[in-house]
Amino acid sequence: MSASQSYSVVVAGGGLGGLTAALSLRHKGLRVTVLEQAPQLGEVGAGIQTAPNASRILIGLGLRAQLEAIHTEPLDQVRRRWKDGSVIAMTSLGDRCKREYNAPYWHYHRADLHKVLLDACVDPDGPGPVVQIRTNSQVVDVDRADPARPIAVTSGGERYPADVVIGADGIRSSVRDALDLPDTLVFSGEMAYRVLIPGDKIAADPATRWLVDRFQSTIWYGPDRHLVHYMIRGGQFLNVVAIVPCSPEIERKWSGPASADELVDAFPGWDDRVASMLSKSEGDATVWAMFHRRRDPVWTDGHVVLLGDACHAMLPYQAQGASQAMEDAAVLAEELGAVTVSGIGDALARYVSRRAKHAGMVQDASWQNMSFYHLPDGPEQRARDAKLKDFNGESDVSYDWLWRGTPLHDKDLEAFSYQFRK
Ligand SMILES: Cc1cc2nc3c(=O)[nH]c(=O)nc-3n(C[C@H](O)[C@H](O)[C@H](O)COP(=O)(O)OP(=O)(O)OC[C@H]3O[C@@H](n4cnc5c(N)ncnc54)[C@H](O)[C@@H]3O)c2cc1C
Repeated sequence: MSASQSYSVVVAGGGLGGLTAALSLRHKGLRVTVLEQAPQLGEVGAGIQTAPNASRILIGLGLRAQLEAIHTEPLDQVRRRWKDGSVIAMTSLGDRCKREYNAPYWHYHRADLHKVLLDACVDPDGPGPVVQIRTNSQVVDVDRADPARPIAVTSGGERYPADVVIGADGIRSSVRDALDLPDTLVFSGEMAYRVLIPGDKIAADPATRWLVDRFQSTIWYGPDRHLVHYMIRGGQFLNVVAIVPCSPEIERKWSGPASADELVDAFPGWDDRVASMLSKSEGDATVWAMFHRRRDPVWTDGHVVLLGDACHAMLPYQAQGASQAMEDAAVLAEELGAVTVSGIGDALARYVSRRAKHAGMVQDASWQNMSFYHLPDGPEQRARDAKLKDFNGESDVSYDWLWRGTPLHDKDLEAFSYQFRK
């Protein structure tokens, strides 16, 4: 896009979705301002996985070297039974993902991934106009008196007019509220403990040493609860997400601190290795009530549009929420980057039609995984385990479909091969 055709975009929210969108739009030559409510940009102290559908997009944004510096690569995805840790199914990741999906399956510390995106947004030598970042800027309303020139309004009364306003402001999106969209938020009845356990403590104990000897992405299945863990920062931390029925207190408060004892107590009767692992957490565990949004294909009104958790918040039971936000960002940039101001409305409609059904299927499958993962021992559980052995995926969506991602117009990116291109 030439400088004379470039136009302005305000992104409300500087999370992983908002920054991927800002960077993608910058690459298309658009002038982007990010408004973030927090005093400082950053992410929670936890891990995150990007499957090939998201890694491909990040690498396509020129971030390969930066990601190689911060990633940890799991060699397999392993599913285990709660009682004795026996392996239900194993899926090869590592080189297989690069070979079959042309992009890697990687793990990171969230703060590291967020910093890579932020640095690229503000890099003076990067392609397109440098992204402007405004912290302490909570968007409370969007003035749409002129539908073609919406104005993001902050709690401090500042007004940011733009040709497009993007709501990337998370599960409780104010931009979504400003569009008067239906309340689709649903409480799942579950909560997630999140903790980073020091890798050296894991390595020092023979009962947990196996977690360091081969990096894997592991899911334990049990009645009413499940457990996910993987190494990040090359083994510095074991990232653990433990999903259990929600306590009345966390349902009321949405989140809070948690202790190692509480974590261990949440998995009574499980394989001893689980307690050995969880008992090593160091008091910085947190617990969060889990919500999702019901599928809703309305993501745009005039020149205001939603992205990420603001429109398709999903349970983390496929590790796809941020990855789907990255797919949103790539498709939105393709559409907005191809038009001048007069084409924005149509470009946003095309973005929604390319993304809403796809993200909705992932939302639904993640929701279904809640009961699928948590079956009591019995015939249904045995049928599930048999399915997991043979099926390349979980619930109703296959990894083939999920990891290939939404088809992109960018043929270079579609044909991208991690293995063979520098
Ligand atoms: C336990 C758990 C594990 C997960 N694991 C994975 C995984 O492995 N892989 C994966 O892809 N996804 C995972 N997810 C999902 C993922 O974390 C989210 O889907 C993703 O972070 C959503 O990104 P977002 O940018 O849309 O929203 P957010 O990350 O919520 O970012 C929103 C940003 O907007 C800011 N903001 C909010 N309101 C305003 C406002 N009014 N004005 C200005 N700024 C505002 C916030 O401060 C924040 O910075 C997991 C989620 C959980 C809970």
